[in-house]
Amino acid sequence: MVRIVEFAERTISLSSGMRNADISFDEMTATALVLVSDVVRNGKNVVGLAFDSIGRYAHGGLIKERFGPRLLAAEPQCYANQSGHGIDPARAWSVLMRNEKVGGHGERAGAVGLMDAALWDLQAKLLDEPLWKLLNRHYPGAVDPNQITVYASGGHYRPGQTHKSVADEIRLYQDKGYRRFKIKAGGASIESDCARVESALSVAGDGHTLSVDFNAGLRREDAGARIEAMTDYGLAWLEEPVDPLDYRHLAELRARHDVPMATGENLFSLADARNLIRYGGLKAECDFINVDVSLSYGVTEYVGILEMASMEGWGRRAFIPHAGHLFAQHVAAGLGLGGHETAPADLLLGGFSSDTKLIDGVAHLGHSPGVGFERHTGLGPIFAQMLG
Ligand code: MG
Repeated sequence: MVRIVEFAERTISLSSGMRNADISFDEMTATALVLVSDVVRNGKNVVGLAFDSIGRYAHGGLIKERFGPRLLAAEPQCYANQSGHGIDPARAWSVLMRNEKVGGHGERAGAVGLMDAALWDLQAKLLDEPLWKLLNRHYPGAVDPNQITVYASGGHYRPGQTHKSVADEIRLYQDKGYRRFKIKAGGASIESDCARVESALSVAGDGHTLSVDFNAGLRREDAGARIEAMTDYGLAWLEEPVDPLDYRHLAELRARHDVPMATGENLFSLADARNLIRYGGLKAECDFINVDVSLSYGVTEYVGILEMASMEGWGRRAFIPHAGHLFAQHVAAGLGLGGHETAPADLLLGGFSSDTKLIDGVAHLGHSPGVGFERHTGLGPIFAQMLG
């Protein structure tokens, strides 16, 4: 029976010169997590790795004080795979959630999500297969479980930037193989934001290849005008226009403007996602939900969200997870979701692992075991150092 014998976490700085309509990333941090199993191969313990999503800071405190010790204290039979080799991440998830009250969520959801991600990476490695394959077997439905349409997430507001720099950035992504793009909006005047969109479209071409992200930055006074200014471009979607928990305001805007909308990256639970679907006024046939897998308690909760949404008429294709981290890439491909955000390559967690190929806007995931942090330019060295 496989036992988790140790864990290690480290807080990593994600500082950059970027900002969106709502926050700056200068002080942003994230957690790198290692779970060590007692299975030894080639003289080394098999480990599960995970790296935080971006936007909510590191989760090391909760992992160190609560969730790490709770998992280590559990008997291995509590999380053993009952129908094969290795561990069952869903059963381990139940161990993590022992004595946790319902509701609230907050930072706890990200800490548990990070543990969950490392457990899935570990199990994929124990079975010597890529995570997308393991997830597809557990939760079938994807047509091409090793492929996922991706978009380049960028167009942040940066000091000294001109409208032309947005076009240059899109061209850079195009040269790398991207065909869909997202830029920030709501952090400058309406005229300036329109100029940025037009600059991006001068390279991207069709409106449906571009979306804009308001990062919850719009206020009641000008939300309508800012959305109206974007409607004629025929964009793929307008993302997170208002406060993620203000379902009534979102519903009002969606009823008034006939343009696809996307939101949900700052909702961290099935209960919140259900409220969004019930009260947010979004339309299953053309809108999108961006709940972030690892900020929202991980795969077990996320699959619960997909099942709840399915009963409300929402298919998996309407789900495009936030953040662009490697773990979400495997989840999006393996579960057959509608797409995957890719964080900018100059962000530590951005880009792909070396065995993933980007061809004409579609990421083809490789066959190496696990998630692929070891084969990622930015994160590989961090984990190599942690593993000593
Ligand atoms: Mg967003």
